[in-house]
Amino acid sequence: MKRVPLSSSNKGKPSARKTLANLRTGLTYDDVLLVPRYSRIRSRHDVDTSTKLTPKIALNIPIISANMDTVTEGEMAVALAREGGIGIIHRFMSLDEQVAQVRRVKRTESIMIESPYALGLDAKLFDVRKMMREKNVGGILIIDGKGKLQGIITSRDLRFEEDLNAPVTSVMTKRKDLVVATWGKTSIDQAKKVMEDMKIEKLPLVDSKDRLRGLVTAKDILKRKEFPNATKDSKGRLRVGAAVGVRGDFLDRAKELADSDVDVLVLDIAHGHSDHAIDAIKKIKKTVSNIELIAGNIATPEGARDLIRAGADSIKVGVGSGSICITRIVTGSGVPQLTAISDCSRVAKDSGVTLIADGGIRNSGDITKSLVAGADSVMIGSLLAGTDESPGEIVFRGNQRYKVTRGMASMAARRDQLEREGRLKGIKGEMQNHGEEDLSDYVPEGVEAIVPYKGGAVSVIRQLEGGLRSGLSYCGASSLRELRSNGQFIRITDVGLVESKPHDVITEL
Ligand code: IMP
Repeated sequence: MKRVPLSSSNKGKPSARKTLANLRTGLTYDDVLLVPRYSRIRSRHDVDTSTKLTPKIALNIPIISANMDTVTEGEMAVALAREGGIGIIHRFMSLDEQVAQVRRVKRTESIMIESPYALGLDAKLFDVRKMMREKNVGGILIIDGKGKLQGIITSRDLRFEEDLNAPVTSVMTKRKDLVVATWGKTSIDQAKKVMEDMKIEKLPLVDSKDRLRGLVTAKDILKRKEFPNATKDSKGRLRVGAAVGVRGDFLDRAKELADSDVDVLVLDIAHGHSDHAIDAIKKIKKTVSNIELIAGNIATPEGARDLIRAGADSIKVGVGSGSICITRIVTGSGVPQLTAISDCSRVAKDSGVTLIADGGIRNSGDITKSLVAGADSVMIGSLLAGTDESPGEIVFRGNQRYKVTRGMASMAARRDQLEREGRLKGIKGEMQNHGEEDLSDYVPEGVEAIVPYKGGAVSVIRQLEGGLRSGLSYCGASSLRELRSNGQFIRITDVGLVESKPHDVITEL
C-alpha cells in the first residue's frame, strides 16, 4: 500500500502579499556544489550506479532518454538499454508506428526470439529482401500454410542473386538440411552448444508438430557478452518505455503498447498536476494494471502526492527546466529544478515510488546533484539529440555539423502533429490540408533549436556515466544509496560559478 502524506487541500494558502513577504528561494544545479568527502574508492569502476526506474524495474545507470521526437525512437532506445539505462519512445507518431518501434527494440538481442519473421512458400526473393531491410534482420524463415518450418534464407544466400522474382524455394536451405531444436525444451546454453558444434548462425525452434515457434541467433548470444550491463526483461529482451498523452487515443495506445510488451508507460503532459492527468492515470492503471506507469510532469509535493494517489508508480519532476522549454517565460510558472526535486522526493520516498528528474541536465555533475537532491534517475533530451541514434538529419552551419532538436510544445512540433493527423487547416487554395485547426491561437511553450553533432550516443552516455562515477567518489559513496546519504550541498555565488568553469584561459584552440 502506498502511504501518501500531506493534506489534500489547496485551501488556506497565504495571500499573495504574505507570500511575497516570506518568499522561499528556489535553487537549481548551478546554485550549488557537492562538498568533497573522504573517499575509500580507489577506482571509478568500484562504484555501483544501479538504481530503480520504477519500484519493479531496475537500471544499471540512472539515465533515461526523453520521449521527444528529436531524441527517442527505436535506435536510441536500443543504445540506452544496452548501456544500462532506458529510452522512452515518443508519442508523436501513429499508434501502429509506436507499437512497431517498441517491437523493434524488444526483438533486438532477444536471445530466444518468439514468432520470428517468416514468409510463405509462395513468396519471392524480392519479398525476402524487403522484409530483411524493413525489419533489419539477416535471416527469414519459410513456412507452409500450417506454420510448419520449410526452410530458411539468409542475407548471404541473396548476396549474388540477380533474379529477385525467383521463388524462395529456389534459394532457401530446405527443412531436411536444417538443424533445429525443440521450443520450450532448449536452454540458451544448450542452443549455444548446438550452434557451436554444428557451426551454424541461426537455430530455429519448432514444436512437436514441426511448427515454427522461435529462433536463436549467434549474433544475439554474442551481444550478451558485448553489453553485460544491458537493461533486460525476464525473457532477456531489452527493456523499453513508451509515452502516451491524456487525450484522444491514449487508452488504446496504452493497451496496444502493453500488448506489444512495452516495459513501462510514461504519461506525458506538461502540467501534470491537473484533473486531466489524474483521470488519465486512473484509467490507464485500470486498463493495463500490470504495466508500470510513470506520470508527470510536476514540481511540487502536492503534485507528487496527487499523482501517486491516482496510481503512478513513479513521478517525473520538472516544470520549465528543459533546455528547449519556454514555459516559465510564457506562463510565469515553474520551480527551479533542484528545489523541485528535493521537495517532491520526500513524498516519493514516503510513498515507496521513484522520482525521475526531467529536464535541464547539461553535464554529469548535474546528474550527481539531482541524485543527491532525491532523484532515482534523470531524463535527458538535448544532450542526446545531437547523436547518430536520435531521429533527424545532420545539418550544416558553416563547417560545423548540428542536429535539430525541438520542444514537443513548440510551434514546429505542433504544426507537424496537426499535419500528420490531417487536422491542419490549409491556406486558401491549398489542396492537401482540409483540417479544422490552425496555428493562430496556439501558444508554444517550447522552441526549435540546433545542437552540435556528437557522433554515437554511446560515447555521450559513457562520458555521463564516467562523470557520475567520479562524482560518487568525490562524495565518498560507493552506491547511489550512499550518495544520497553522504552528499552535502554548499550554496555558491555567481562568482563561485565563474570559478567553477574554465577561466582566464582561451579554450578555443
Ligand atoms: P533537456 O534534457 O534539458 O533537453 O529537457 C528535456 C525535457 O524537456 C523533456 O523530457 C520534457 O520534459 C521537456 N520538454 C520537451 N519539450 C518541451 C516543450 O516544448 N516545452 C517544455 N518542456 C519540454
